[in-house]
Amino acid sequence: MKLYKQFIVSPHAHLHLSQFDPDDTAGFNKGDKTHAHLEKNIEHMSDLQYRLYAEGRRAILIILQGMDASGKDGTVRHVMTGLNPQGCRVTSFKVPSDEEARHDFLWRVHKAVPAHGEIGIFNRSQYEDVLVVRVHELAPKSIWSARYDEINTFENLLHKNGVTILKFFLHISKEEQKERLEARLKDSTRNWKISPADLKERERWGDYVKAYEAVLKKCSTPMAPWFVIPSNKKWFRNLAVSQIIVEALERMNPKFPKPAFDGFEEERRPRLEQFLIGGNGCLRVGNNLAIHRD
Ligand code: ADP
Repeated sequence: MKLYKQFIVSPHAHLHLSQFDPDDTAGFNKGDKTHAHLEKNIEHMSDLQYRLYAEGRRAILIILQGMDASGKDGTVRHVMTGLNPQGCRVTSFKVPSDEEARHDFLWRVHKAVPAHGEIGIFNRSQYEDVLVVRVHELAPKSIWSARYDEINTFENLLHKNGVTILKFFLHISKEEQKERLEARLKDSTRNWKISPADLKERERWGDYVKAYEAVLKKCSTPMAPWFVIPSNKKWFRNLAVSQIIVEALERMNPKFPKPAFDGFEEERRPRLEQFLIGGNGCLRVGNNLAIHRD
C-alpha cells in the first residue's frame, strides 16, 4: 500500500481542491481490518521512533493544517498516541503573542523545530502567515506574497540539516465542517472549542480554499512535500496520515548507532545483558526494546 505516492502533491501542480474528493478512502472500508492496520502502523511508528532517537542524527517534522474542525487535534490524539513523549514535541501555533509579533514570522517556528532524534508535530504552522494573514489582509500583499519563497528556503535549510518534513492538508467538505461545528455546539464537553470567530471564518471558506491552493502549488517541494488527505472520514484520515509517516520513517531507515567503545560486542554486551536481564529471562525497555535470553 503506497498512500505516500497516492496523496502527494507534485511540485508546481495546477490544482484545484475541488478535484480532490474529501470522502475518498482509497478502497479501504471502515471496520476491524482497517482498525488493525492503524494499530499496526502506530506500533511500527513507535518502533521507528525509538531507532530515530537512538540514532540521534536526523529528525522528522509533521505539519498539520486544515480548515477549522478538519481534525488537526484528532489526528494528534489518534495517530501520535503510541509515541514516546520523551522524543516528541507538539507545538500549536496561535495568534502571535506580542513578543512573537515583534520578530520575523519564522522566529517562533524555528525555535519549535525538532532536534536530531526527535519527532516534531506542528498543529498549524508557518503557513498561517500565508493563510489567515492573506485572507484577512493582516499584512500587505507585498509582505505575504514573498513568504512562499521564504518558507521554501527555510524548509530547505531544515532539510539540509537532516529534518524530514511531511505536510498534511486535512481536506474536509464545507458540509462536513457544518456538521462537525453543529455537533460541537450541542456537546457540552466540546462546545468550549467553538468560538464566534470559527463561524466568521466559515464565511470566508472560498478565500481559504484559494489561499490553500496557492500554498499547495507553491510550497510542495521534493524536500518538503504536501499531502492532501481526504478527511471527511476520520478513520481514513488517521489511517492515511499514520501510513505516510511510517512510509517516510521506513525510507529514512534510522539505525542504532554502534557502541561508543571498542570491544563492546565481544566483552561487554553479554555481561551487560546478563546484568540487565537478571532472573526472568526478558527485559523490556519502554514499549520497544526487548532483549531476550537464549
Ligand atoms: P485551533 O483552532 O487551532 O484549535 P484556536 O481556536 O486557538 O486553536 O485558533 C488559533 C488561531 O490562531 C486560528 O484562528 C489561527 O488562524 C490563528 N493564527 C495562527 N497563526 C497566526 C498568525 N501567524 N497570524 C494570525 N493568526 C494566526
